[in-house]
Amino acid sequence: MDDLQYGTRNKRGDWTPNRPVEPAPLFDFPPRIKAILKWLPHYFLPWNVIFAVSAVAYWAWIIPPVESMQSIRLGWIGWLYAVNALCVLLFYGAFELHLYVLRRQENRFKYNGKFPAEQRSKAFWFESQNIDNILRTFLSGVTIWTGVEVVMLWAYANGHAPWLSFAERPWTLALVALAVPVIHEFHFFCIHRLIHTPLLYKWVHSVHHNSVNPSPWSSLSMHPVEHLLYFATVFYHLILPSNPVVMLYQLHYAGFGAIPGHVGFDKVEVGENGLVDSHAYAHYLHHKYFEVNYGDALIPLDKWFGTWHDGSPEGEARMQQRYRKRKEKLAARKARMEARGATK
Ligand SMILES: [Zn+2]
Ligand SMILES: [Zn+2]
Repeated sequence: MDDLQYGTRNKRGDWTPNRPVEPAPLFDFPPRIKAILKWLPHYFLPWNVIFAVSAVAYWAWIIPPVESMQSIRLGWIGWLYAVNALCVLLFYGAFELHLYVLRRQENRFKYNGKFPAEQRSKAFWFESQNIDNILRTFLSGVTIWTGVEVVMLWAYANGHAPWLSFAERPWTLALVALAVPVIHEFHFFCIHRLIHTPLLYKWVHSVHHNSVNPSPWSSLSMHPVEHLLYFATVFYHLILPSNPVVMLYQLHYAGFGAIPGHVGFDKVEVGENGLVDSHAYAHYLHHKYFEVNYGDALIPLDKWFGTWHDGSPEGEARMQQRYRKRKEKLAARKARMEARGATK
């Protein structure tokens, strides 16, 4: 596959897509029906279908009977942790093995020409991005994921969360299921913006940003506080008219859904000529520039707040202008304070 048909590679070996990232047309005003219809398959395929099907499979085969979840017992909680850990190992591991260990598509479509294993850094535990990221994923990531899941299942089992049946309220549940990615985007943007405030960034979010060149294991490499905020997205289902399966879809959208954004490749080659879009470029730019793209543009929140970078030269210019303005503001404030100090 010739990735130079789709983008360019610079001297450092970094690949950049030709086309800028387009925000989803879902919230455009006036509505662009044709654009929405053209975009709609991407809303489902392939990622969201995987997360939704995995939720159904969990409900069918993994989640214990409701009666046993009425009380908090180590047995079923340990079982859930084990299954979640195994699924993460298999799902994340498949991307890692294919793209980073066996390097089946070498550096085709890879945003950053370097592979994390080639660079050691003191920012990471054991100076290794991979070891650091894997430990954080399983120590706090899967643990807090499971903890949040247990709280929700316990709440359903004890009648503390609205539980609609698919037989009686199929349309309501279909609507809530359709809104799952939108809920995630809204929640993620809010908590992400929050942890980019100076104090929380230093204390919490810098852990995730240590991976400037993200790879699959970076997806859930976060500070435990960020894990908690991130997975708290399922708590919306404590008030929404919902169902445990839809809640699990929301949870898997966060847990397994973190991976496409951190895969580091724009497209994953499948077979001879197949290409699957990762839609990772917006979030890759966030890891590269830190203060752009707090969301993934399903809702154009970054556009509305002026932090959108679509990868184009115009996007770059907008970002530089924002940085310049902020610098000027800081310099002006400093000058004012100095002047005030001099007159005292
Ligand atoms: Zn990230
Ligand atoms: Zn961030």
